[in-house]
Amino acid sequence: MNTQQLMDLDHQYLVQTYGRNPIALDHGLGATLYDLEGKEYIDFASGIGVLSLGTAHPKWLAAVTMQAAKLGHASNLYYTQPYAQLAEKLCTRSGMSAAFFGNSGAEGNEGIIKLARKYSFDKYGKGRGTVITLHRSFHGRTITTLAANGQEVFHQYFFPFTEGFRSADPTMEAIQEVAGHDVCAVLLELVQGEGGVLPMDKEFVQQLAQLCEKRDWLLLVDEVQTGIGRTGTLFAFQQYGIQPDACSFAKGIAGGLPMGGFLVNEKCRNILGPGTHGSTFGGNPVSAAAGCAVLEVLDDATIAQVKEKGAYIRQSIEDMHLPCLGKTRGLGLMIGIDVAEGYNNKELCAKLNVAGLLTLTAGTGLRFLPPLLITQEEMDKGLSVFHDVLSKV
Ligand SMILES: *Cc1c(COP(=O)(O)O)cnc(C)c1O
Repeated sequence: MNTQQLMDLDHQYLVQTYGRNPIALDHGLGATLYDLEGKEYIDFASGIGVLSLGTAHPKWLAAVTMQAAKLGHASNLYYTQPYAQLAEKLCTRSGMSAAFFGNSGAEGNEGIIKLARKYSFDKYGKGRGTVITLHRSFHGRTITTLAANGQEVFHQYFFPFTEGFRSADPTMEAIQEVAGHDVCAVLLELVQGEGGVLPMDKEFVQQLAQLCEKRDWLLLVDEVQTGIGRTGTLFAFQQYGIQPDACSFAKGIAGGLPMGGFLVNEKCRNILGPGTHGSTFGGNPVSAAAGCAVLEVLDDATIAQVKEKGAYIRQSIEDMHLPCLGKTRGLGLMIGIDVAEGYNNKELCAKLNVAGLLTLTAGTGLRFLPPLLITQEEMDKGLSVFHDVLSKV
């Protein structure tokens, strides 16, 4: 099958919910991918921040194939080793107390929203189910997480949405304005991903954490994109000097396999008891074994290199002084690049993709989420395509 034949097949038999690039990826190794015709691409996207170890990492591959051969699924009515071992690794390295595993980021966020509402219900009864979110946030595409998203563009078509979300600008004044007696939690990303790679101000986050404590609101951090080493620490909250009551994770956790979930602190470990929450596929042994391999490869020393790599990529781009671009920002290997007025981020991204550098957009800019293990050579190859393409637009 060639690319055109595959595109035709896709268009005939798939619901067309995605604006795909005219590229048919076939295989790869690390941060280097190949399409059906054998053309090479440097991966500055990792899927969308999913391939934390890159493609086909030997330790990941061994863990996945061995677990698949042993036990590919068990229901949550039984104990399985990878599930408990992954939970232990996550809790030990994050200072959190217990984990729940589902399958996606939106599901992880649904879980912590349920957690906050039940925490509040158990203690205060009905009428305290509102969650404050932030403008420009993104928490998922289920009916509830769409409602949570602090971007109007997500609040169309699918009425009625879940009630009980109120969004505010990331300032203490704006939070105080929406802080009614009906609030049970604040949910935020520490670096807003889809919204444009927008890191939160540290002082704001710490003041917000204090307010949560004072009002007995749960502090919920959406680490779906920022988690699992992406920003240079296992979780971004570890750089913000806060410890959330709960955080969600997904994208990078299983190195490419579907998995999401959340971690809770000691105060919240017993809020969701038997029968209150669950998932048929959640904590699948193959995904969990993959997660264990990801966390073993991403030890503290490896994660520490994430910041250096991010700084190198950002400095290289700033040094190019390309007229179509503005400033860079971000944390670790979560990088946003402003696009200058008169240029369109989606057009620039599409040009880069077909020229052999897989990139993403976010907000009105470009976004890089390369595999955390990307090599110096791969970074330089990618940056060279970047310069070639964008110096000619
Ligand atoms: C991608 C993302 C989600 C949604 O994850 P899915 O796995 O697509 O449900 C939620 N929150 C953030 C911050 C994300 O980046």
